Amino acid sequence: MAKNKVISHLMCVECKDRNYTQKVGKARSIGSLNVKKFCTKCKKHHMHKETK
Ligand SMILES: [Zn+2]
Repeated sequence: MAKNKVISHLMCVECKDRNYTQKVGKARSIGSLNVKKFCTKCKKHHMHKETK
């Protein structure tokens, strides 16, 4: 069931910290997602870029 899923990380563009992980389908290309999320390191909302 988990065969078609890969783990991707959401990295804060400010501190480069990987704050979030998520499972995405393999068919979807990783690196296209940019979301604004709360960074626990910066204690602020920053853009997070999807990375492997
Ligand atoms: Zn940060």
